[in-house]
Amino acid sequence: MQQTAQSQSFDIPATMQAWVLGGPQELSVTQKPVPQPGTAEVLVRVDAVAICGTDLEILHHDLPAMIEGGLSFNKNFTPGHEYMGTVVKLGEGVDEFKPGDRVTVEIHAGCGRCERCREGMYTSCLNYGKNYGDQRKGHRANGFTTDGAFAEYAVNHINTLVHVPDTMGDAEATLVVTAGTAMYGLDAMGGLIAGKRLAVTGPGPIGLMGVAVGKALGAETVILTGTRDARLNMGTQLGADHVVNVRRENAVEAVQRITGGQGVHYVLECSGASNALNEAALMVNRGGRICLAAFPLEPVPVDVAYLVRNNIYVFGIRGEGRSATHRAMALMAQRRFDATIIHTHTFGFGDLPTAIKYQRERIEDAIKVVVKIKDS
Ligand SMILES: [Zn+2]
Ligand SMILES: [Zn+2]
Repeated sequence: MQQTAQSQSFDIPATMQAWVLGGPQELSVTQKPVPQPGTAEVLVRVDAVAICGTDLEILHHDLPAMIEGGLSFNKNFTPGHEYMGTVVKLGEGVDEFKPGDRVTVEIHAGCGRCERCREGMYTSCLNYGKNYGDQRKGHRANGFTTDGAFAEYAVNHINTLVHVPDTMGDAEATLVVTAGTAMYGLDAMGGLIAGKRLAVTGPGPIGLMGVAVGKALGAETVILTGTRDARLNMGTQLGADHVVNVRRENAVEAVQRITGGQGVHYVLECSGASNALNEAALMVNRGGRICLAAFPLEPVPVDVAYLVRNNIYVFGIRGEGRSATHRAMALMAQRRFDATIIHTHTFGFGDLPTAIKYQRERIEDAIKVVVKIKDS
């Protein structure tokens, strides 16, 4: 992958502008000290950050953020986790990156010492959030348990960094972690996608990237279901062979019609609809696999007997584990799909509340809203 040939030096100020979370829905700009990178960490100048549905959840009811072992409200906490930028300073022992390198980030730097981290499942780190007071376990999840990127600078562990090729723009690079999450969902189901039939339910950012990654990995038939034609059209542009508007046709019947009654091998569930798991079970063939990448807000009844009788496997994923972000970047760097199709709006640093409003209310069909921090 291309990198800047010469190491550059940067003037780093002592303080920076940062948005901080007050109470629910309260964001304000303040001055904070620029953080210092420790061992195996770098300081990243944040160049662009995408707004995520999870940011809206944190603003609304705090979880899944966890600061100092509790709620993130009124703790001078800076959210924002889908970002890219430029390495401007190295911590001790870092030779994997140099100042001037453009990087995009994964969210989770697991502790590296727990059972799950040792298995590569660092998004399910058993020491999640245990990085305060006398519990410095080494875990970071920027924008969740440590300061994120609604700010001019952020500190990242090198394990969370992915080089960005010169040919890729800043906004596109913020989408790598979303594609990486879709990739991790496909990994969870076995990862053998080529030649298989895949249904993706729910055309949000992860669902749309699931279509693109699944197709890039050689899925024979990719079916996308959803309720909004504009998003389904994006799915077609990203490689879906068939799209189904569930307001006009029953999703299960459509999948069976398209597959000639054979069903699909995999369902990547990205809608969070209350009946989604039951419907996914009726979409897969016997022995098929379902990965849940979204969830309903309330407990839902599930036909467990159907799952058991048909040997259907159900997986859940959290975030972008097992270096899936690197594999997603490999596909994007090779132009196997155009993630910028889902980038709909761009705002400046000072317009963050407006950017969040666009994302939350889906103004002008907003899907991925990107805030440019450098030069704004
Ligand atoms: Zn996110
Ligand atoms: Zn861990």
